[in-house]
Amino acid sequence: MINANIKVLWQRIHQICQRIGRDPDSITLVAVTKTVDVVRIHQAYAAGIRDFGENRVQDLLEKKDRLPGDIRWHLVGHLQTNKVKHLTDFIHLIHSVDSSRVAEEIERRVSRLERLADGKGRTVDVLVEVNTSGEISKFGVQPDQVMALVRRIAELPHVRLQGLMTVGVFLPNPEDVRPCFTLLRQLRDTIERERIEGVAMRHLSMGMTNDLEVALEEGATMLRIGTAIFGARN
Ligand SMILES: *Cc1c(COP(=O)(O)O)cnc(C)c1O
Repeated sequence: MINANIKVLWQRIHQICQRIGRDPDSITLVAVTKTVDVVRIHQAYAAGIRDFGENRVQDLLEKKDRLPGDIRWHLVGHLQTNKVKHLTDFIHLIHSVDSSRVAEEIERRVSRLERLADGKGRTVDVLVEVNTSGEISKFGVQPDQVMALVRRIAELPHVRLQGLMTVGVFLPNPEDVRPCFTLLRQLRDTIERERIEGVAMRHLSMGMTNDLEVALEEGATMLRIGTAIFGARN
């Protein structure tokens, strides 16, 4: 069933990409595994998925140890400063950096790892999470604070900024989510125009099961999908 779900999902992605003239191979599909057990995650792995995302650091660590080593792990949920140290030696991408404090802690931990391992050039890739909906319940930096945070991260040699992420407003009609995605794209364009050294606005992580078409229309390069792959959560 998970295998079939993934096929249907890629059909959805191919269809919309064809309509808007984008290359589906340029889209990264991140399977979001919150509340999903390792047996079902393994089914998605067997169906070809290699990018997996978790909301909570603890859940990610527990599942990671019981799954194949070539999985690229993404943290898509809120990151507390005191959890950073558990991630720095393996995480593929942290989607949820929303303060200079957490960025500086990543810097501190990675540079320490580098010294311990005597390895050169170790870095961690991150996205800045933006609160594009104005909802106080949501994480993410406010839009008018994004540029300051981007400039701060650009100063950190072991943290590589790769783009922006947002969780759109939770509304049943995906058209109502579009302004969130448009805003994220505009922020990306504004940052790109500044040509800040060390900043690559490669990724827009936006779009979930309900709104992925709209997100792709607005320029998403990473979709974070749970329900369409694993079914509804309890
Ligand atoms: C749960 C979650 C998703 C996936 O949502 P679905 O609607 O199940 O596809 C994506 N991003 C984040 C941050 C999530 O918490």
